[in-house]
Amino acid sequence: MYRITIKEGKDKAARRHHPWVFSGAIEKTEPAFTEADWAEVVTPTGFFIAYGWYDENSHIMLHLLSWDRKEKMGDSFIEHLAEEAVERRRAFFSLPDTTAFRLIHGEADFLPGFAADVYGREIRMIISSRFADHFLPVVTRKLSQLLSPSVIEAVTDKQFAGLEGLKERTRHFRNGLETKESEERDNVRFIESGLWYEVAPGRSQKSGFYCDQRDNRVLVEHYAKNCTVLDLFSYTGAFTLHALKGGAASVDAVDSSESALRHLLYQVHLNEDKGILPPASRERVTITPCDAFDYIRQVEDNKYNLMILDPPKLAKTKSALENAMKAYKDLNRVAMLKIRRNGIIATFSCSGAMTREDFRMMLAWAASDAGCEIEILHTLSAGSDHPVRLSFPESEYLKGYIIRVLK
Ligand code: SAH
Repeated sequence: MYRITIKEGKDKAARRHHPWVFSGAIEKTEPAFTEADWAEVVTPTGFFIAYGWYDENSHIMLHLLSWDRKEKMGDSFIEHLAEEAVERRRAFFSLPDTTAFRLIHGEADFLPGFAADVYGREIRMIISSRFADHFLPVVTRKLSQLLSPSVIEAVTDKQFAGLEGLKERTRHFRNGLETKESEERDNVRFIESGLWYEVAPGRSQKSGFYCDQRDNRVLVEHYAKNCTVLDLFSYTGAFTLHALKGGAASVDAVDSSESALRHLLYQVHLNEDKGILPPASRERVTITPCDAFDYIRQVEDNKYNLMILDPPKLAKTKSALENAMKAYKDLNRVAMLKIRRNGIIATFSCSGAMTREDFRMMLAWAASDAGCEIEILHTLSAGSDHPVRLSFPESEYLKGYIIRVLK
């Protein structure tokens, strides 16, 4: 175990249970780093702060994991963390109309770089840290023991592979052991809030579906009756499906990914065939594969009265925030200009680097430039399977509002 001394005056965040320590806060490492291992973290005067995982090859050198001096660090501690995460989501396993949800939510579950989603009998994981890559076999073994999933598939997050020096790969685990998969698996089917979806195995966006928007989709459904809807950044159409279920007159879905849009149409068929969506739903949907920022500029005025704006993470880091704020503002400003009087916009940001205050301020600027007044109808966040850990503000990454645009 390493003994790591934090620099004088740099221990505040660590004491407040923020889990990240960067190289600039480290005074001394004993013995000198050779390979990733557990660490005891102390103040310059030698007082215990926390235990963590130390890896100089990670962009976050030290991940703090326990502030309890009596805790024993080791594989069984990691197993315990995984078990606790599952335990906290017990209620999700018996939801009547939803079989997809987040099981492990990274730092919010004290497992940095681990995201695990349940899809029916499968578990999909996204690995975004060296820590998660290292402990993947331990966590999958525990999840197998607790939940007996048909398979656990783990993919390296493309966005972090370079930063963390991880190989981009997909690994499979069955019955707690890593397997070499020889055949292509079928798509996995699941339900969310009564609608059917499928995700293809292997590399896709995130774990294949964004289950963080579950509660927000249901809310949007209630505003959709007879509306002309624009689903911008639609991906595979979960908001589109809800709008149709809520009785939308038409939905135009726009995304840069053509394969996601094709999958959207497939999912409209799937739900129409099952009688969950009203007949002729398919005829109400158009798909346009293009840049959404361009698309919205070309939209005719007053065409839509319900818009969903769910862009990808535009601010990947704090330093990228200023430019990202401009992009968010522009998107929202144009949407406010184009939407009909008293129209509804569901607008989101999934940038962890952007605070809720930033987001509201951006909306205020957009409204002022568009010359309209805004009513906030709902303040939105990710579902409770994506909890926000108060000592880790970055875990409040998804922020949204349903607003009415008064003109
Ligand atoms: N609303 C979706 C999730 C959106 S994720 C849902 O509920 O499932 C963000 C989406 O934006 C991705 O599908 C991605 O392909 C798309 N995207 C990223 N940049 C884009 C751009 N410039 N124009 C259009 N779509 C874009």
